[in-house]
Amino acid sequence: MGALPDRAVAMLAAVHDHPGLTRAEASRLLGMGTGGAAEVVGVLVAEQLLAEGSPLPATTRGRPTRPLTAHPDGPVVLAAAFSHATWRVDAVELGGTSIATLDGEHAGESAGTVLGVLGDAVGRLRDRLGDRVRGLGVSAPGIVTDERYLDATILGWRSVDLAAVWPGAGLFVADNDATLAAVAEVRRGAAAGARSALHLMVDAGLGGAQVDAGRLVGGAHGTAGEFGHLPLGDPAVVCACGARGCWGTAVDGGALARLLGDPVPADPGGYARSVIARDDAAARAAVATVATSLGRGIAGLVNALDPDVVTLGDLAADLLAAAPDELHAAVAAGLMRSRREAPPTVVAAALGAAGPITGAAERVWDRWWAQLRR
Ligand SMILES: [Zn+2]
Repeated sequence: MGALPDRAVAMLAAVHDHPGLTRAEASRLLGMGTGGAAEVVGVLVAEQLLAEGSPLPATTRGRPTRPLTAHPDGPVVLAAAFSHATWRVDAVELGGTSIATLDGEHAGESAGTVLGVLGDAVGRLRDRLGDRVRGLGVSAPGIVTDERYLDATILGWRSVDLAAVWPGAGLFVADNDATLAAVAEVRRGAAAGARSALHLMVDAGLGGAQVDAGRLVGGAHGTAGEFGHLPLGDPAVVCACGARGCWGTAVDGGALARLLGDPVPADPGGYARSVIARDDAAARAAVATVATSLGRGIAGLVNALDPDVVTLGDLAADLLAAAPDELHAAVAAGLMRSRREAPPTVVAAALGAAGPITGAAERVWDRWWAQLRR
């Protein structure tokens, strides 16, 4: 299939962003006349890119209109995500619905083994879906350079080429899990409609990203967002990255263990969850201290970056739920006076664990729209 007219691509992207959008709504949203919209939809249905559902009863004056949805034989993108212990591959149709999922656990073996497992799953979905598959997005737990090469301290991997999951994929993009979760929150989560959204996620470390006017703030190598290594923590603590006083070391399971006099936890995330679930005074005080550190850093980032929405994922969301007063008070105390008049919303991420894989799929769709316009 060759290039499509811009307004046909805009129609596809609009239905992707608002599945179930009616033809009448699409024509208003895109500023097309109803005749033009009908013509564009006709082309897209004929190309098996869109389908029209049954007519909806008209609720206002005018004729009944039909919702626009993914075509049953239409395009899909594959999205893969892995952590230090689990993996998952989804096939995602237009509109963001996953139509097939393969998942499992891995034992943190070599990069070749884990990427081989992902590659097998991608191959099985390609066998099943054939030429409907347009490309692959990969979410990884580490720093991803140039949307392809992964350094993952948590797995002991250096410069791993993630494109090995599907060599020769027509469209391929890989990125850090927190970065992709940031994209997902803007597209389909708690930051929908934000002018500038900041997403922060705490797991083994603290990462995140800013999405400004719909565009990811990526940096020169696509690795922007390592906010956990801002020196907002205790300078006596040495971070795994080699620097002292990293903010991430003040908000994770290791920070809770230091406050409670426990040994360094082997699984900082699991340890942190167990402390947050406790109901004794020592645990509550440690959680309050860590939530305050998180809030202070959020205030600093808000002063510097000016987001209107801040979404918190993973352990950061758990800290918000466990100690909301302490976290919000620390944010308020750290904001510049001018920012306090219109403070950003600080909320839990809506997509939770599905954020990274959702963002991976969204990035492939973005690439596909660009390819269609060429
Ligand atoms: Zn660090």
